[in-house]
Amino acid sequence: MTYELDPVPDGTPVVTCVYCGIQYTGGTPVHGAQVLKDHIMQCDKHPMFSIQQDRLQLRAALANLVGASTLPELYALKLTLLYAPGLKESPDGAAMIGGIDALIISIESELEAEGV
Ligand SMILES: [Zn+2]
Repeated sequence: MTYELDPVPDGTPVVTCVYCGIQYTGGTPVHGAQVLKDHIMQCDKHPMFSIQQDRLQLRAALANLVGASTLPELYALKLTLLYAPGLKESPDGAAMIGGIDALIISIESELEAEGV
């Protein structure tokens, strides 16, 4: 369990991160969980923090390799590569397209998780 919801004497719920002990009180919007998602990105004791940091590092490295990092850039680059004669059949072209696809999936899944 990542968080504990603790009742306090005045009835105001307190959400406590079980990894670092930080508490969110007094009107914190517990439902919707945005505050919890934001906390995970900042809590270096939370296991998801290092996973997220690793994912961002891998994404940045892959973006540097393919030379594009935004969805419009990635889609444009993929189209260019798909229509370049013989490129998608070559090992380098296939690897490049695979890297682009991985970046697109990573960015789109993050946007979907954020509800964008
Ligand atoms: Zn924490």
